[in-house]
Amino acid sequence: MKMSKLFVQTLREFPNDAEAISHKLLVRAGYIKKLTSGIYSYLPLMQRVIAKVSKIIREEMNAAGAQELLMPFVQPSEVWEKSGRWEVYGKELARFSDRHGNKMCLAPTHEEVITSVVSGTFTSYKQLPVNLYQIQTKFRDEIRPRFGLLRGREFIMKDAYSFHTSQESLDEEYENMARAYKRIFERCGLETKMVQSDSGAIGGSVSHEFMVLTSTQTGENDVFYCEECDYSANSNHAVSILNVEETDGAKFGYSEEKLVDTPNVKTIEDLAKFLKIDSNCILKAVLYVADSKPVLVMIRGDREVEETKLLNAVGALEIRPATSDEAYEFLGCEAGYLSFLGIDKNKVKVIFDKSAKGMKNFVVGPNEPNKHLVGYNFKEEYDFIDVALVKEGDLCPRCKKPLKVTRGIEVGNIFQLGTKYSKPMNATYTDENGQDKPFIMGCYGIGVTRTAAAAIERYHDDFGIVWPKEIAPYHVDVVPVNTEDKEQMEVALKIYNKLLDEGIEVVIDDRSDRAGVKFKDSELIGFPYRITVGKTISEGLVEFKDRKTGEVEKLGYDEVVEKCKELLLN
Ligand code: ATP
Ligand code: MG
Repeated sequence: MKMSKLFVQTLREFPNDAEAISHKLLVRAGYIKKLTSGIYSYLPLMQRVIAKVSKIIREEMNAAGAQELLMPFVQPSEVWEKSGRWEVYGKELARFSDRHGNKMCLAPTHEEVITSVVSGTFTSYKQLPVNLYQIQTKFRDEIRPRFGLLRGREFIMKDAYSFHTSQESLDEEYENMARAYKRIFERCGLETKMVQSDSGAIGGSVSHEFMVLTSTQTGENDVFYCEECDYSANSNHAVSILNVEETDGAKFGYSEEKLVDTPNVKTIEDLAKFLKIDSNCILKAVLYVADSKPVLVMIRGDREVEETKLLNAVGALEIRPATSDEAYEFLGCEAGYLSFLGIDKNKVKVIFDKSAKGMKNFVVGPNEPNKHLVGYNFKEEYDFIDVALVKEGDLCPRCKKPLKVTRGIEVGNIFQLGTKYSKPMNATYTDENGQDKPFIMGCYGIGVTRTAAAAIERYHDDFGIVWPKEIAPYHVDVVPVNTEDKEQMEVALKIYNKLLDEGIEVVIDDRSDRAGVKFKDSELIGFPYRITVGKTISEGLVEFKDRKTGEVEKLGYDEVVEKCKELLLN
């Protein structure tokens, strides 16, 4: 490919609406162009990256025994009504009516359609298990599309679905997919951590996420992990062991229950200072609104609520912190003094976080302004459940060593669905005894475009993208320093053509721009190797530069071709 013809325009400046480094670099280096919020055109360079990631996925999925198909992107409401998700999916599901008034939607995922595809086609236990996958555009009207391709509204996903006659068979396929995923990401040049993303509860669903660990802040999730054992989980699901011995208010002289004045002291920090007590001896009340109903969380003062855990605990679709007006409306008290004490439990659901278990002689709001109760002890046995965010340094739930935290990007996940879709959709097979049974299902997703963006988050420097060579749009950039110089152009073209003949993906920068401009673009776009053809041709030498290490070697014309072959064709 000649650079003068490549459909790309690099920009001098970063786009100002971009926060994530991958977003900035993808726009600046000419990989994507925004059409509207969360919706991008994938320009030729990007399309090549997508094709490479997709090829790796296809090869590994096929090798793992899955079969590729392609399902409709536009879907009728009927299948969604059958599964029960038409009503509950929320605003991410883009719904519309066709010209006849039929309710339709743009596919955010394909559990419903795949279930209806398999149902009635594979009807006997003898035909199972089967695993079907596709690589396709999805649409989700994300509440906050951001970070470019990391969280778009339109994006490309690989989604696979497996159908089984037994839990054992599903377990086997789940392991098989976990292995395939590891290989896929490895081949994309990405190290991933497989983290638990279910609650680990017995009888609960089993699922794992594949996280690319990043140093950049754009990792959307915190991943907690233990260096001693192999425990790791994302913040939505991580659990830890808390030290409860320290949380006795008696240590601070509060061993007797008393109502004390705390005028205008509303935050935990101020309260701890005012009463000269540690915040972990205060029981904090945080009010939420879950599907428009109030939920009051009682949690230890030094802990924060993990909203996904809370959402799951109350079984709501949407959850958000209450405003101070709502606090007044639901509890009749201003925020800062809220409490589970003295409220109507029929009106407000109260959740006690596990961190509160074992607290003694603690401080708690009385649900009346400008006062707090000190030296309080629970007077009833409550059901304590975990809705708290884990903190770095908390103890590992398995081996009790301190947990560490890092940022991560979820590039894929695997899920045991069981009969969640097959039962309501009445999708069955016939077993050995001629009985109809619902399929036992698994599903397995990979964000294709997100994986490419995650690779940039992981591999970049001040000058631009540093693609792993497996998914780089091109491998080699041949740069003649002076295109006016006939001899330089001749040598550059010779090397370029040789590389092409060898099947190496190569660009020649035949633009008449200054060499400095071409070098900058080469680094910004992230070609793994650059061959510079300049003055040293008088000695029969060209310069070979490795983008990742920055190492430069002077090599002869044939030598440089051999070097590329060695690095790229094996
Ligand atoms: P998230 O928690 O990030 O919203 P999810 O649980 O909704 O992800 P799935 O529905 O399981 O994700 O989708 C499978 C994969 O698709 C994810 O692992 C992720 O890599 C990718 N993906 C999901 N949503 C987006 C998005 N808005 N933009 C880009 N990729 C996405
Ligand atoms: Mg999502």
